[in-house]
Amino acid sequence: MKKLKLLSIFLLLFVWGCSNEDSTNEIEDGTNPAPNLKSVGSSAHDFLSADKYKALAIEVFYVGNLQPNTQTLQNLKSFMEARLHKPGGITITQKQIASPAGTPYTINEIADIESDIRTKYNTEDTLALFILFVDGNFSSDTTTTLTLGAAYRNTSCVLFEDSIHALSDAPTEPNRTDLETIVIEHELCHMLGLVDLGSPMQTNHLDSAHGKHCINQNCLMYYQTESNINAMMNSGMPTLDANCMSDLLANGGK
Ligand SMILES: [Zn+2]
Ligand SMILES: [Zn+2]
Repeated sequence: MKKLKLLSIFLLLFVWGCSNEDSTNEIEDGTNPAPNLKSVGSSAHDFLSADKYKALAIEVFYVGNLQPNTQTLQNLKSFMEARLHKPGGITITQKQIASPAGTPYTINEIADIESDIRTKYNTEDTLALFILFVDGNFSSDTTTTLTLGAAYRNTSCVLFEDSIHALSDAPTEPNRTDLETIVIEHELCHMLGLVDLGSPMQTNHLDSAHGKHCINQNCLMYYQTESNINAMMNSGMPTLDANCMSDLLANGGK
């Protein structure tokens, strides 16, 4: 995995303040964006439990030929079905879009793209999730650091698919489906409130030196660097460890 050894890989998290606290603007009619403009982790309980939302509607957008592998989305759905109480079901719709042509993208630019293309917002019983597989790369990337994904709102995340392509499917590199699956599950888990981001810790396992991540280097929520992603993939696909699992359980998940 020559390339991976040369690069640091980041799975980012942007903790934005809630953009609108006005409860009169909280009408959930499927078209009002306000309930979906909150900070990462603030809808953790809504994802995990069926207290309010019985179903989950995922809207996937991809640029040009950067469609995620079918198995990646199936893995995501299986992961969610194992953790989330959604008796009304989890549905995924996919739409192709033209390149926004703004690379390298800042997170504000990604959020602007989202407002242009997103069509699904919460209804009273269905939570909506937006996932963008974008071309180009992230504004803070350098020749030695690449960002593969970022969660930036309560129900929004982006994957930098060109960067994922650059690091997968060559003979010495990870399988693309595996890499896509790790990135998407990691970003989802930030929206599920990990670590200490909306799903309260049952035991202290916060890697405080690296933001909202888990101290266990074998856990999906470990702050990942080049050597670690190699090690993780060599020992099989990373999953959540017992501490992360118990936080999700305590906040209403399975
Ligand atoms: Zn992360
Ligand atoms: Zn963990």
